[in-house]
Formats: sequence, structure tokens, C-alpha cells
Amino acid sequence: MNRRIFSSCLLLILVLSNPRPGKAQPINPDLPETHSLAQGPIKLPIRLHLGYLVVVEGSIGNQKLNFLIDTGAYPSVVDQKITHDLRLGEEPSRVRLSNKSIQTRRVVLPSLSLGPIHAESLPVLSEDLSFLQRATGYKVDAIVGLDVLRKSSFTIDYRAKEMLFGPVESLAFSAAFETGPPIVTVRMTFQTHQLLLAIDTGGPDLMLFNSRLSDSTGFQELGTEKVADVSGAFQRRRVRIPGVFLGSEKIGEQIAFVIDDQKDDGDRFDGVLGVRGPQFWKVAFDFERRRFSWEQGADASAITVAIYDDAQLSPRVLADAEDEAIRIYQKAGIPILWIGCNPSKTDAKSDPRCQDPPSAMHLNMRIVPHARKSSDDIFGVAFLSAEGTGAYSDIFYDSVEQLDRDWHVGLARVLGHVMAHELGHLILGSNAHSRQGIMCPSWHVDELHRASMGTLLFSEEQGRLMRGSLPR
Ligand SMILES: [Zn+2]
Repeated sequence: MNRRIFSSCLLLILVLSNPRPGKAQPINPDLPETHSLAQGPIKLPIRLHLGYLVVVEGSIGNQKLNFLIDTGAYPSVVDQKITHDLRLGEEPSRVRLSNKSIQTRRVVLPSLSLGPIHAESLPVLSEDLSFLQRATGYKVDAIVGLDVLRKSSFTIDYRAKEMLFGPVESLAFSAAFETGPPIVTVRMTFQTHQLLLAIDTGGPDLMLFNSRLSDSTGFQELGTEKVADVSGAFQRRRVRIPGVFLGSEKIGEQIAFVIDDQKDDGDRFDGVLGVRGPQFWKVAFDFERRRFSWEQGADASAITVAIYDDAQLSPRVLADAEDEAIRIYQKAGIPILWIGCNPSKTDAKSDPRCQDPPSAMHLNMRIVPHARKSSDDIFGVAFLSAEGTGAYSDIFYDSVEQLDRDWHVGLARVLGHVMAHELGHLILGSNAHSRQGIMCPSWHVDELHRASMGTLLFSEEQGRLMRGSLPR
């Protein structure tokens, strides 16, 4: 699945859900549910997909389901299979996209729960969400927007992989809500421009609506690219914007996409800020104080790894393998951030970080379908200079698959361990092999057994060496 198509799907839902004056939706004007907060914050584990999509468990009626947290969606959207099974009465309605209007169906959900939040008689859209499963490998049963989330302040910690409901701790940076909920916007300024951006946990990019830009002075043009979403193909311009502020906080140079839209005075915002950029690793929506806050720049301590999947793995296997490697490095005290990059497909430029120059903090990994006969290593190879430094490694997918067939440890698990091993070569440099643990040069029953138990790790010494080798 093309990542850009996918993020556009979420944009679609955002724009589709953009409320217009005079057509206010019948949302209960619930205040934050402060009574539940007396018990302290409620923590839910999250799954991250494609590095930015947040999926948590919630329920509709008594059914446990997967919810995608999308602060750009309004109202929430529930998969039609679920609304059909519940035999809810559907009401056809048309919603407007940025450049056309489409047919959808409205239903009223009897109840929906997420952490401390309970909503009853909730009006939502009923749509076929199977595209999300095709994109992430996981079933997503509902896209939950701020019509639901506004009932409790919340924090998303992308690094600890958890979502906390309740009072927001004070984060390093914050900006006042300019509007919302339902669509929370903050002010973005650069040079003489002022724009209102909708904060969107459902997208990775900063996107600006062309009709809202009086002029593009101050943008450095990086080219035009053609992308597609469920409403068809469209073009967008990639630009670099220096000196950007959110509220009064400087967030610095940003890569943005400018998309053509139809000017509509009903729109209350000029663009969309996907918050899982490199600089956001924790975000919070505080509905009591009406502030959006975030931690930024701390991912500077993370090693980013641009991953190129030439073997065309299922997105789920790749995501699980990445999670496995993240876990192994977490144990060694090293944060890893995977960036999906694929030059052979049309989404080559989807993540600006794919173009970052290689360094000790920015490594590259390619999963190739077949082993190179010339290589000594069976499962992969790390390319090191004579000085023992390097930033490129390959994984041989057929060998990994064979290893999984031989030992039945699970494809994603085996792949994640092999990825962790090859990255270990890049981070540790020459002579990285050890007799035991993840850097053992050949894996047999003992290593595979430990991999399946989650205990095939770096040694304390290797962890110390790796932490010491990173620039601070
Ligand atoms: Zn090795």
C-alpha cells in the first residue's frame, strides 16, 4: 500500500468531516468527564503503525475493538460491518471533500467506550474501513475523532507507546487552541504569514490548502508530485518553509505539502499538521486549559533507520519486526525510530527524512529478496569501512524465511532479530560478534529458543559500548 495514498485517505476523512456553519452536527455538548479523573490518569497501551498511526483498544456495546485515534476526524467513523451487525438505521447524507462531495451514511451508535470515556447515542459515519486493514495489516474497527476524545484531556506518548487520559502533565512546549474542539486548530506563523492548522494524529505530514495561501513567497519549492486517494488523483507541491512557529514556540524549518482545494468560507482552518513528525514524540490535548502541548527534539537521541522493503513484505510483518527490534534496542537503552522509505514505488518522497544523509544517527536498511552468494553472513550484511564505520545494511529475506520455516519462531520475530543484529554491526563497528546473545554470528536452537522467549539481547557491555558510541 502506498503510504501517501493512505495518509490521503485519512485526510479525506478529516476534510470530509469538516463541519460547516448552519449544519452543526447533533453532538452532545459534553464537558470533560472530570469525575473520572479523580482516580488519576488512565493508561492504555497503543500500537503504532507506519510510525505514526495510533491504535488502541476500545469497545462498542460489549465488543472489544481496535480504534484508530484521529484528532482530524469529525465525526468518528465506524466500519460498516459493525453498524450492519448492530442493525442500526442508516441515514444517507452527503459530505464535502476538499474538491467534491461524496455519499456516506450516518448512524447513531448506542454506546462507545474508550478508556474512561463513555459516549451514548453517538452520531457517527458508517463507512467501509477495510482499506485501513490493507494498509496496516491490522483490522481497524473505528476511527475515533475529537467528538469522542474531547470528553477527557489526553496525552499520546509515541516513545513509551501509551495513551494517557486525564490531567495533562506540563510539557515543554504548548500553544493555545485557536478553535475547537471539534476541530482543534493552533496558529502557525512564518515570516508575515499566519495560518490556522488542524492538529491531526491521523497523518504524518504538514499540509497546506493552496486557496488559503495569499502567496507562496518564503517557500522553497521542492517539486510537484502526483498522489491519489479514494477520491482520485491529485497533485501536490512539496515545499520547504524556514522559521516556523506554532503559537509562540519555534519549531523551525518544516517540509510541507501544498494541495489544491476548493475555497470555501465554511472551512475554519488553512492546513493540517500531522503531529508524528520527527520533532513530536509526545503530544497532549488539554481541553480544560484549551492548549495543545508537545515534547519536541528528544528524538534527536533516537537512531533513525530508513528502511527499504524490496521484498514486499506484508505491512503487518514488517511493523511487527520493527517493533521487535525496537524492543531489543530499548533493553540496551537505545531508542530506534523506523522510517518507511521505498524508492521503487511512487511514494519515494513521502517522508522527507528518507533523504537525510547517512550518519551514525541515520542508518539505512534494505530488505532484499535473495541472499548474495558473495556474502559471508547468511541472513544479512552490514557494510563497514576499514575504520569500522558504516550506515548501510541489507537483510536477505529468503534466508530469514528459511530460518523461520526451520524453527517456527514466527517470521516477524526472526526478521526483527536479524534486523537488530545487522544494525548492531553498524552501531558497534568491527568485531561486533560475541559468543552469546543477539550478536552471536550463527544462530542455532539455543539462540532461536531465546529469541522466542524475547531474551536474545545485547550484553550489558555491548549496550554500554553502543550508548557510548553515539554522538550526544
Ligand atoms: Zn553478524
